[in-house]
Amino acid sequence: MSTLQDTAHYDAVLAATRQTLERIATEFAPAVFASSLAAEDMVLTDLILRAALPIQIFSLETGRLHAETLGMLDRIRETYDYEVALYKPEAAAVEHYVSTHGLNAFYDSVEMRKECCRIRKVEPLKRALAGKKAWITGQRRAQSTTRSELHVQEDDIAHAMQKFNPLADWTEDEVWHYLRSQSVPYNPLHDKGYPSIGCEPCTRAIQPGEDVRAGRWWWENPESKECGLHVVDGKLIRIKSA
Ligand code: SF4
Repeated sequence: MSTLQDTAHYDAVLAATRQTLERIATEFAPAVFASSLAAEDMVLTDLILRAALPIQIFSLETGRLHAETLGMLDRIRETYDYEVALYKPEAAAVEHYVSTHGLNAFYDSVEMRKECCRIRKVEPLKRALAGKKAWITGQRRAQSTTRSELHVQEDDIAHAMQKFNPLADWTEDEVWHYLRSQSVPYNPLHDKGYPSIGCEPCTRAIQPGEDVRAGRWWWENPESKECGLHVVDGKLIRIKSA
């Protein structure tokens, strides 16, 4: 089992996260959790399902995920007897993009990459969030330059609802301490040098000492590295909710 430098901080963020999830379930129903099936999201999955909170868990099945990531759907079913809801891109939009630009045109420019993310992630996310009062993500502040101002609760202007990042204050060590101490299943890619996992063609393993998001869209500048799920009018918006 992993050890922690600051157990008091861990106890505090864990208690706060449990409280946040309970508050979301009672005050913001219907609420949903957008899981990428990566380590942080497995912490939240475990907390939500063990407490039997009425928060639906869904995932964006982009059609370009690793087999290991898709395998997490089976692990969750086996461990919790829970079926993660899947939202997929519109087939016609994918076909148009591929026939017009090519299957992997996202390597050609930031615009082509964002268009692929819009079709495969942003539009399905809008469908998943329709009619909901709040959504939850597993983002952490320490993950990258684009997430340094992350708050636990934010006004999501684009989707006109509240957005919660209950793990905003967690460290990477604390995430792994939780997963290991609670025997939570996790994506085997994490043991192969992938701290952050997205679509297969847009994610690579990183070297020791590299930023944890360095393996995502590694051919782009750090400032452009978000998929559009956390962006309004082309800008990352961080508005702390009252
Ligand atoms: S991460 Fe890559 S493959 Fe996945 S939707 Fe974005 S550009 Fe497309």
